[in-house]
Amino acid sequence: MAKRGTPVPTGAGVCPENVEALLRDALQNDRFTLAYQPQVDLQTGQLDGAEVLLRWLPPTGAPVLPPAFIPTAEATGLIHPIGEWVLRTACGQTHRWNANNRPFRLAVNLSPRQFSRAEEIVLAALRETGLDPGRLELEITEQSVAEDLPAAAGVLRRLNALGVRLALDDFGTGYSSLQYLARLPVHTLKIDRSFVAGMIRTAKARIIVENIIRLAHGLSMRVVAEGVETPGQRDLLRRQGCDLAQGFLYSRPLAGKKLRMLLTRPEPCVQTAG
Ligand code: C2E
Ligand code: MG
Ligand code: MG
Ligand code: MG
Repeated sequence: MAKRGTPVPTGAGVCPENVEALLRDALQNDRFTLAYQPQVDLQTGQLDGAEVLLRWLPPTGAPVLPPAFIPTAEATGLIHPIGEWVLRTACGQTHRWNANNRPFRLAVNLSPRQFSRAEEIVLAALRETGLDPGRLELEITEQSVAEDLPAAAGVLRRLNALGVRLALDDFGTGYSSLQYLARLPVHTLKIDRSFVAGMIRTAKARIIVENIIRLAHGLSMRVVAEGVETPGQRDLLRRQGCDLAQGFLYSRPLAGKKLRMLLTRPEPCVQTAG
């Protein structure tokens, strides 16, 4: 058990045993919370859904972001109880919001380590919370499917049969095998923010984004652009026909209370600066 006032891990140079003890303590003492980043319809500006992002609230200091502790959680197996907590909490909150307001979609990240148990934990979270499966989207990365494509395709088909939606996250950064697009039952493609960042500066990044969008639409997938930070990126993505945008231009990840406030507006638009 970690002592109060234990230094907060910052990622680099953290002793993994220390992080492991702190993560166990966090699980026991309710020190995780969820932030929600809006996903916005690029054509209408309307709120379409949100991605759930895990935050760890250490006894002292600022919330810790996932890259500083997910690797340790994965290495120690703690990703399983943490990931189940994320799913259950996110599904429960969304179900309550859906009951009071208009239906809303929530995207939850699944670590590659959780992948083999995905069907079991998703089913349990849906049963426990009563959430309509169509309101849940699972974000997986290419890493989850790279090792064994036929097995991964099987897992995704079973998840699909539960009625949940599937998104391929950080598209373009991993292997980006076109095999994945051909063989996996994926509904949404998320273009990694490195391409979005590059598309104003270089014609190559712009052409890649344009053609990822075209390819995804040809395969009846929706496209989310990640890391949209400027009006210039938004305008270009809109012209290219990208469906949804997520990024600091629209909103930073929000506390649940704030997202709820957005949802209760008659027209839940997310304003941008430009
Ligand atoms: P991701 O799934 O690609 O999530 C998007 C990340 O980009 C988030 O970082 C978000 O805060 C950040 N972001 C969003 N808009 C912008 C922008 O306009 N500019 C910039 N520079 N960044 C932006 P975060 O919250 O630190 O999460 C990092 C990664 O940690 C996520 O990447 C995801 O892979 C992982 N993660 C987050 N929550 C969970 C979780 O519950 N379970 C698992 N297994 N992984 C998670
Ligand atoms: Mg994600
Ligand atoms: Mg992503
Ligand atoms: Mg990313």
